[in-house]
Amino acid sequence: MNQSIDALKQYCNSLVQYSRRQTLEVNIGDVPMGGTNPIRIQSMTTVDTMDTQGSIEQVIRMVDAGCEYVRITAPSIKEAQNLAEIRKGLHLRGYKVPLVADIHFTPNAAELAARIVEKVRINPGNYADKKRFETIEYTEASYQAELNRIREKFLPLIRICKEHGTAMRIGTNHGSLSDRIMSRYGDSPMGMVESALEFLRICEDEQYFNIVLSMKSSNPQVMVQAYRLLVQKLDEEGLKPYPLHLGVTEAGDGEDGRIKSSVGIGTLLEDGLGDTIRVSLTEEPEAEVPVARELAARYEHRVGHTPIAPIVHYPITPFEYNRRVTREVLNIGGTHAVPRVITDLSGRDKITVASLFAVGYQYSVPLDKWNITDTACDYIFLGDHAVDFEIPGTLGLLYHHATWLTQRGKDRTYPVIPVSEYLRGVEQSPVLNFVRVTPEDMDQALLVRLKQDTTAVLLATTDNAHAMAALRRLFVELINQGCDVPVIIGRQYQDLNGEQLQLYAATDTGGLLVDGLGDGLFLETVRSGSDKLVNDTAFNILQATRTRISKTEYISCPSCGRTLFDLQETTARIRVRTSHLKGIKIGIMGCIVNGPGEMADADYGYVGSGPGRITLYKGKEVVRKNVPTVEAVDELINLIREHGDWIEQESVN
Ligand code: SF4
Repeated sequence: MNQSIDALKQYCNSLVQYSRRQTLEVNIGDVPMGGTNPIRIQSMTTVDTMDTQGSIEQVIRMVDAGCEYVRITAPSIKEAQNLAEIRKGLHLRGYKVPLVADIHFTPNAAELAARIVEKVRINPGNYADKKRFETIEYTEASYQAELNRIREKFLPLIRICKEHGTAMRIGTNHGSLSDRIMSRYGDSPMGMVESALEFLRICEDEQYFNIVLSMKSSNPQVMVQAYRLLVQKLDEEGLKPYPLHLGVTEAGDGEDGRIKSSVGIGTLLEDGLGDTIRVSLTEEPEAEVPVARELAARYEHRVGHTPIAPIVHYPITPFEYNRRVTREVLNIGGTHAVPRVITDLSGRDKITVASLFAVGYQYSVPLDKWNITDTACDYIFLGDHAVDFEIPGTLGLLYHHATWLTQRGKDRTYPVIPVSEYLRGVEQSPVLNFVRVTPEDMDQALLVRLKQDTTAVLLATTDNAHAMAALRRLFVELINQGCDVPVIIGRQYQDLNGEQLQLYAATDTGGLLVDGLGDGLFLETVRSGSDKLVNDTAFNILQATRTRISKTEYISCPSCGRTLFDLQETTARIRVRTSHLKGIKIGIMGCIVNGPGEMADADYGYVGSGPGRITLYKGKEVVRKNVPTVEAVDELINLIREHGDWIEQESVN
């Protein structure tokens, strides 16, 4: 489907020039959000809200780490009441950070909290509805009757917020849409948007505008589409441009959580969307703050980047996933090939058998064979290094063109050719040639040549600070010109720490992959982490964008005051036993109130249902209730086995 640029302006200011979307300024205590304010950083406490002192100490740690708003769960009236004690204690210690009460299912707790704290967060999926996973047939009249019922339940909170100057976030979660929304719109970005708009229209009717919106999902693709659609719908309906709170829910921990969050949040920030961010990791909340700051900091000086050519016709649909159609060149592109990973070993002094261990290939001396792991890269870029041993049968080697001329008799060796030499007509491989290009190289002479060359694959790179948009521009040109050459997305990084590399690469390339652009990744790095880290980062980005699945996916909640077990420790225990189950999604949720809804499309669920008790799910169905914690991981494994998804560890090693 083609989109005119006018239609696109409804989701961002510009596809080629970085600028933040102009939003309404919302007052939240002394820290306003939106308008010309910087991108605000926030997080959520994990201690029990009834533990006043513990909550105060944790909030202080979070604020000291750079948190500008702190959210605290208020599952019932008593926790909402205790927010007053926490707030008082913080003020006594000199901390005036705005507090946000997190509400699910309990309007009476919301109405009390709105009198105490600076902001309340409600989930439109469960504020006025109990979820029963039922499909209901609605007529126009019965749907309207439901909306009237919601209005009655919601009006008191709006009036209290207006009276007390309290802000509100209407925060949709993909995993906890109401049965009403699911029945009419399905489990879709449109359903997520409509879920928030139903509540927002009531607020606007009441002339209450102190509102922030969010559209979270554990799937970055869904999350990105929902935020874009939300902006477009706000414009279309003439609603105000409310600030956006960005987040990927249940992102997990470690590198997975960081990369998944960056793909979702970073993709939107690149297009100027987002006024506050929360990175939700299954780690201590203060650990989330530096990650969020790192993501936001990249945009402080983005305005004024090297200009990118304007786009007249935009051929990409930003609200649904469609992979760009490319021709297949060897094992790259086409309709079936997964995106390929090229790992850069050109900076090594010498390439040995051991060099390949870090990039997913393990050589067994007694068996005299290569063991290929799920994160074995497809190609290695060697620059000018030759190898003097037999490489694994699935691996290809890339050389600078001049060196390739000396190696071209060997199996699976291919040249990387600068575009100027390619156009000059230097000697090529009869099978596969990587042509290094930048967006500025895309002229007619090159396009004509590429259309005829069935051996070419582009290695597209840019040094533009607004890299995602610059590379997107290159894809737009290829699509508009009807050129189906496969493209490997290339990025070059120097002098970053490992975490920065994960965040930057996931943002710069994830934003393309979620729109179906790119037939592979090539991260070239200098002093920016080990070979293993760089290789794993590429695979993790592909996993997070759901374009290539190479491992088990954990959808684990960040924990909060409702959590019934140690999430970090439990996630680690489950990971040890199940990390070889490629493609399986396991939800690990701290409480049964929100967990089952929020684990979205997990295949199996491990959910805290009481102190020392776990309930296990197969999809959305409860299959074992109240299992003692000590037995629960074994029971989870049994469940996976019963459903035929278990593989013994030895058989995948
Ligand atoms: S699922 Fe986790 S983060 Fe969400 S409310 Fe329950 S314990 Fe808190």
